[in-house]
Amino acid sequence: MGFDPAAVAHSVAELQERLARAAARSGRRAADVTLVAISKTFPAAAIRAAWEAGIRHFGENRVQEWESKRGEVAHLGATWHLVGHLQTNKARRAAVLFDSVDSVDSLDLARRLDVALREDPHPAQRKLRVLLEVRLAPEETKTGVDPSGLEALARGVLLLPRLELAGLMCIPPPAGDPDDMRPYFRRLRELCDSLRAALGVPLPALSMGMSHDFEVAIAEGATEVRLGTALFGSRSP
Ligand SMILES: *Cc1c(COP(=O)(O)O)cnc(C)c1O
Repeated sequence: MGFDPAAVAHSVAELQERLARAAARSGRRAADVTLVAISKTFPAAAIRAAWEAGIRHFGENRVQEWESKRGEVAHLGATWHLVGHLQTNKARRAAVLFDSVDSVDSLDLARRLDVALREDPHPAQRKLRVLLEVRLAPEETKTGVDPSGLEALARGVLLLPRLELAGLMCIPPPAGDPDDMRPYFRRLRELCDSLRAALGVPLPALSMGMSHDFEVAIAEGATEVRLGTALFGSRSP
């Protein structure tokens, strides 16, 4: 799909404003909610356009696609997130290509990321930020850890020296009415609150909400919203 840098700049400004208003309605500060631009299927030039408009967090959903684009934009100061499901056989590459893996859903995967970083001497002692993806609608989605296994997974991840457990993420099944997403977002926040209490760790990040429903997610406590379509336009199928 084509995109227009001026249109991207306009969308960034408009979305930042909507984000700030949604935060204010819940008594929160705009600075407490990060806009993560989901650039999958769009070229590196789209990332650059969003970066020039002030975006500093980007998300891709496939390791291979990011490998093909990163040469053009990796030098920009930004935080690169992997938001899509990660197969264990790509963990090694993902560990060095991203700053944050937002979709960790098994201890096996977490261990592979940790090992990859320990074996990669450069840069020394870098920690990889991870979020745990929770499956809130088991009948409709395949990826994510079941809430019943979340605490055990979190405890396992906390023991891995090169991973920094920052919080939770969810991708609920899409709904026509954004308000129908509210129970999922609320559930993720409650799970995060109980986990924080059980583990005694900060867990500052709640990544939830996409183009269609990010304002509802912010009302329910999102600290990161992942916006693709609203920012770059529709993706070709
Ligand atoms: C594609 C994608 C998004 C962005 O979705 P939009 O509806 O285009 O905003 C967010 N999160 C994940 C995990 C995605 O794969």
